[in-house]
Order: sequence, then structure tokens, then C-alpha cells
Amino acid sequence: MKNSKKFSVIYLLLLVVTFQSFSQNKLKNQKPNIIIFMADDMGYADTGFTGATDILTPNLDKLAESGVVFEQGYANHSFCAPSRAALLSGKYPYRFGFETNPAYDPANPLMGIDSTVKLFPKRLQEVGYKTGVIGKWHLGASEKHHPNNRGFDYFYGFLGGGHDYFKIDTTKPVWEAYLQGLIRNKKTANFEGYLTTALSNDAANFVEENKENPFFLFVSYNAPHMPLQAPAEDIERYSHIKNKKRRVYAAMVDVMDRGIGTVVSTLKKNNIYENTLIFFLSDNGGPQSSKKSPTKGNGSSNKPFRGGKGNFYDGGVHVPFMASWPAKFKSGSRYKFPVNSLDIGRTAVAVAGVEANSVNDMEGVNLIPFVTGKDIKAPHDAIYWRGGSNWSVLASDGMKHVKDKDSKKPELFYLPNDVSESENIIDKKSKRAKELQAKWIEWNKKNINGNMMGYKAYHKLREEFFKESVPKNKKN
Ligand code: CA
Repeated sequence: MKNSKKFSVIYLLLLVVTFQSFSQNKLKNQKPNIIIFMADDMGYADTGFTGATDILTPNLDKLAESGVVFEQGYANHSFCAPSRAALLSGKYPYRFGFETNPAYDPANPLMGIDSTVKLFPKRLQEVGYKTGVIGKWHLGASEKHHPNNRGFDYFYGFLGGGHDYFKIDTTKPVWEAYLQGLIRNKKTANFEGYLTTALSNDAANFVEENKENPFFLFVSYNAPHMPLQAPAEDIERYSHIKNKKRRVYAAMVDVMDRGIGTVVSTLKKNNIYENTLIFFLSDNGGPQSSKKSPTKGNGSSNKPFRGGKGNFYDGGVHVPFMASWPAKFKSGSRYKFPVNSLDIGRTAVAVAGVEANSVNDMEGVNLIPFVTGKDIKAPHDAIYWRGGSNWSVLASDGMKHVKDKDSKKPELFYLPNDVSESENIIDKKSKRAKELQAKWIEWNKKNINGNMMGYKAYHKLREEFFKESVPKNKKN
């Protein structure tokens, strides 16, 4: 070999080695991408990784298998908007009076999350993350509340609490929020086909467009929240399910699972899957029909838990909850102590390198040391809920105190022996019940009263106001 040729080979080899070590260092030093997939009103028992046998969720099951399943994963509220406000702020939503679902009204700057509340995506933006939210917002529809003004570089979806899965009708009044047009950033937008798939495809595009730098993406599905609608061919695939509601619900969950699969494939295709921290959870438990509300159920199952959406028994707040981060988490892990949806934001800011002293106002816990086994204690001394006259507190040892308006007396359950909260042991363990009650009262001192009117009452009042304000002789 001539000398010059030899040099070129050596030079080439050096280049390859340098490039490889550069890419490895880049991967090692690169901050992880963070994605949250959130389902809406999905029951605990409705994913394969939590025991469903009649609904197929292979993509979620694979993700769960690649990381950690939180066996006691709790949403922070038993219905939509306060749960999402808690997730994004990293604070109990009662601290800032967010205790009900805001009415959809783009004209009302008071109907939504208080502008003084810093959402954690804003904190991620400040350390260089590109941030996106796709799907359901539900934290206020006015300009002040718009996701682009609350820490998100990108938004595609709807500002209300849900949406029809097939159509838009912009001739409808604001109270028909589910038919309003979609929005991409500050512009009106549309969707083709089935909404859940459109949201998933948009999420995959976001990944493609932002793959070069760390990003945070909140894929905020409204599925499988009502209305119960799914593509006919997917409903057909579940024809073995006799209950009609559950058949459609199953198809909705299935399409969402496939959409999550599309996003994960996009991560894999671009070699960024390993260093992406993914969470999946539902915003609250599945709504169940009762004698009082026979049409409330959406076909979900919260088995083996008692109750559902709207109360603080485990069926209302104990949700399918998992995290995957192949570069960091051991596959097939299971985590036993209670964790809270507040922990997601606190974990996200920690892995993104946000200065720890600047996030003391966030109330969640960074879960990384707990998941990786560095810290073997329970992350929470207790987890708390409140809403109307209902409240609850769960201690880390599994003792749970519930005050529910439909129950004649306060209740105490020991979850490790009684997951379905069927045996009230308050008389046998009255001292422990009093201790938990005292804890809850102490925690509640930092809360303020709800500062929004319920959406039904609000829309009624709004309609009356506008009717009254048109003089009778000037109807035109
Ligand atoms: Ca919900």
C-alpha cells in the first residue's frame, strides 16, 4: 500500500471512531425527550397490562413491558379538567381554586386556569425544550389560556373538554363545544377521518419535526371519553363483545393504542426511542352507570375497584399508569408504592435539568430514584383529594380514608387486604382514621375555594344574560 493510501485509510478509520464516540457521547449527554400519553375516562382494567382480555392494547403492553408499571398509580382528581390542571402545574389544583370543569367560552378570560399558575412545560421551554400539546386542552378557551401562551410552542387540537370524533360544525353555539373547529396554534384547523388517528398522526409529525433536539410532547387524547364513536371496521373487530357500549369503547381504545404505536415507531425509526421518557395514564377512572345516572357509563371497567369517575374510591382515581425509558429503566419493572400524577411534572423538570431550587413550588416527587431502586422509601407520605363534599386521603401503607356524599358515614379501608374497598374498618381503627383526618385537615389549609362556576350553570346563565340583554322590540 502506498503511503498516501495508507494515510487515507487511517484517516477514515479515525474519522469513524471519532464520529462513533461523538454520537455515543451525544446520546449519553443528550437530555431525554419526554412524552405523556393521556387517555380520557379510561377504566383501570381496560389495558392489557392491567388485565384486560377483551380489549387489545399491544402497543401499550409493549411499552409497559419495556419499563415500569405503577401498580398504585393515581390521578389527582376524579374528573377531567382538575386532573389535567394538576398534571400540567405539578400542584394540587385546589391550591389555585381549580376544582371544576371550565365551561368552553373563548370570550371569557376568567373561565380557565389562573394565569399566575406556571405550567411545567414553560419550565421545560426555559431550558431549551420544544414543547407541544396535541388533543384536548380543557384549561380555558380564551386567548389568555391558549396553550401557546401557557408554555407550549405547538398546539393542535380543541380547547374544550372533548370533541365529536368525526365532524365539526362551526354554526353551533359555544355551549356545543364538541362540534367547534379545531385549532393549530392560533389558526383554525380541520381533521380528516377519525379524530383519534388524526391526533396520533399529528403527534408522529411533531416527533419527526423536532427529533434533532430535546422535546416534550403531551398527547392529550379525548378517547375513550364519550361520545361513543369509532370507525365501523374497528367496531366490527370487537363484535364478540355483546355489550354495545363496551364494543364501541373497545374499538376507541384499540385505535388509540395503534396511534400510540405510530408515535413509538416514529421514535424508533429516528433512533430516539431509547432516550425518550414516556408516560401513559388515564386522567381519571371510567364513568359507571348507576340507578341515579343510568346513562353515565361509557362501557369502561374499573375492576377490581369500587366506584368510578366523580368519586374518590379507587375506581375514580386509580388508573392505568406506566413509564418507559429504555436508556434508564429496567424492563419488566413493577412499582408498588402509591404514586401520583403530580409526580410526572416533577420528574420531567428533573430529567430536563431544570434548577431544583426553582421548582420548590411543585408538589410532586421526582420518581427516577424510586423507579431505579436508589431510594427504597415510599415517595409520598400520603396522597390527597377533595371535590365538593367528597374527600379522601391515602397513606403510603395503604390505609385510605374516604368521605363520600353517597355514603352514610366516613370510611376507612386497608387497600393491601381490600382493593375493592368493601370492608369499612373505621370503627375498628378509629384512632388511625382520626390521624388521617387530621392530616387531611392540615393539607386542606393551603387550599382555596373553587373560583369557577360549574359549566352547566354557567352556560344557562350566559344564555339567559344574552336573551335578556336584547331589548324585546329590537330582536333583529
Ligand atoms: Ca376524563
